[in-house]
Amino acid sequence: MTLHFKHDVIVVGGGLTGLRAAVATNDKLDTAIISRVHPVRSHSLAAQGGINASLGNAPEGRDDSVEKHTFDTVKGSDYLADQATVRAMCAEAPATVYEMEHWGTPFSRYDDGKICQRPFGGAAFPRTCYAADVTGHVLLHTLYEQCVKRNIKRYDEWLVLSLVVRRKKCHGFVAMNLINGELASFSAKTVIFATGGYGRVYGKSTNAIINTGSGVSISYQAGIPIKDLEFVQFHPTTLFGSNILMTEGARGEGGYLRNRQGKRFMADYAAKAMELAPRDIVARSINTEIEKGNGFPGGYVYLDLTHLGKAKILERLPGIRQICIDFANMDPINEPIKIQPGQHYSMGGIDCDVKGATEVEGFYAAGECACVSVHGSNRLGGNSLLDTIVFGKLTGNEVVRTTPGIKGPDAKLVKDELSKWQSRIKELQSRSGGGLAATIRERVKEIMIEKVGVFREKKYLKEAFEELKELRQRADGACLSPDGYGFNQQLTGLIELPGMVDIALMIAGGALNREESRGSHFRRDFRERNDKKWLKHTIARLGKLPKFSHKKVDVSEYVPKARTY
Ligand SMILES: Cc1cc2nc3c(=O)[nH]c(=O)nc-3n(C[C@H](O)[C@H](O)[C@H](O)COP(=O)(O)OP(=O)(O)OC[C@H]3O[C@@H](n4cnc5c(N)ncnc54)[C@H](O)[C@@H]3O)c2cc1C
Repeated sequence: MTLHFKHDVIVVGGGLTGLRAAVATNDKLDTAIISRVHPVRSHSLAAQGGINASLGNAPEGRDDSVEKHTFDTVKGSDYLADQATVRAMCAEAPATVYEMEHWGTPFSRYDDGKICQRPFGGAAFPRTCYAADVTGHVLLHTLYEQCVKRNIKRYDEWLVLSLVVRRKKCHGFVAMNLINGELASFSAKTVIFATGGYGRVYGKSTNAIINTGSGVSISYQAGIPIKDLEFVQFHPTTLFGSNILMTEGARGEGGYLRNRQGKRFMADYAAKAMELAPRDIVARSINTEIEKGNGFPGGYVYLDLTHLGKAKILERLPGIRQICIDFANMDPINEPIKIQPGQHYSMGGIDCDVKGATEVEGFYAAGECACVSVHGSNRLGGNSLLDTIVFGKLTGNEVVRTTPGIKGPDAKLVKDELSKWQSRIKELQSRSGGGLAATIRERVKEIMIEKVGVFREKKYLKEAFEELKELRQRADGACLSPDGYGFNQQLTGLIELPGMVDIALMIAGGALNREESRGSHFRRDFRERNDKKWLKHTIARLGKLPKFSHKKVDVSEYVPKARTY
């Protein structure tokens, strides 16, 4: 028997964005959440450091304001963020944090009971609200409880495979039940993508294994424009060896970065902000030190917390300490941590507006898979958790307004797409002779971290693009060694492989075209920002290879200036 499901609204993704959007729509519309993992296994859970809001609770942060949060975010973005959108996010921030607090998020608190705020990179004041170093964990559980309370229908462990879009209208999608390999059609008046980032297109990533970016590649395949993919955030401090994140909160609490000589080398790169310069600058500084021979063999420097003392580490950074003990066999109370930069966040994504709307009727996007754009070419720490909840809510509210006016989806179109997938999966299972999907994927990751990483240059970007082109062709013929349908990771890997290479091509192609340095995108051969030519968003559209064009940036509030810290 073939399964067909129908709802008014289906939210794809059970991370912070998806859950917040579903909470907004469920009271008014028949809503369901579909997710490739149980919601609380989404990557949002791994967020450590905190969420930004200009509450002004810290003693040295009393003068903070929405205005200052907006300015810091725009400056941090290297002026590529759309400024009115940034203001909208920052203005929503205090109410968003309080709403989460009232729903039960156990934030860390000062003695007077107010929510604690720590300093984060690129922020003029301590603005990052936190719950020790498990902020994502507690926020996600809070929203999950809100969904359970509302009895929102869920499809857990279902992988969405493709969208059905005809004449700029979305009708639904096809998905595979990962538990048994069964396929089903899902029709809906409105689909919201909240599918998170694509970190795993890179080797050395802090992201969960499930962060393949399938939401972005599925949208691209459906003809929806993708924005600014060349901007990839590399987090300065990931654990050497496993690349597990060591939160920026560790530096926010006073941690130092030291090179082989024991020197706090940030003095040479950002004398004022030191370790709390924005991530793009700190990541480049670390890699420059390593290249200069001031790092340690293998390519790392130290994150030193030893001077913070045992009590502070146990109170504020217990999760970081435990990760070090479990994964690096050392205790940061006594020794410095070996760290190196690693891929961390996707600034680009599905092109959408402040209410999540795309150019396709009935298709919305929010959170890390979307590009609205509030982070521009470099995201400030603590602004992404904010982005997820704010835009999850704004998108949900907009969908409540628009969905009743949308004509019902054409379920037949979605069923036809399902039949195509039934034949396609059989074909994938019967393939032989092509390379293994896993081997091709590993090569893609290597290329991306080696040639499209922190430092970029025409020669290497071109080499990357050419080899990715070849791998894209090989991806179409890749095969697996079949072992049934239930939780078959090889099969999902094979299904997702072409999409991952599409994303890699959009990143490398966009980076090759953009002959300037801005935020996270640093070209050794074009070391300066070039506003005259490049103060514009990149748009990639479906073609045999991605077709690139540009879109205007909203600079209505702050005139772009040189960015110094
Ligand atoms: C280690 C780490 C620490 C971080 N710390 C912070 C921090 O302290 N502060 C901060 O502001 N930001 C932080 N970030 C960034 C922030 O956590 C993420 O950007 C944010 O949580 C993303 O939320 P999301 O809801 O958009 O996506 P996710 O939480 O990634 O959820 C995506 C959802 O989509 C589902 N999905 C994806 N594809 C499919 C598909 N094809 N079919 C079905 N379901 C699908 C997944 O199952 C999942 O439920 C951190 C990120 C990492 C990796």
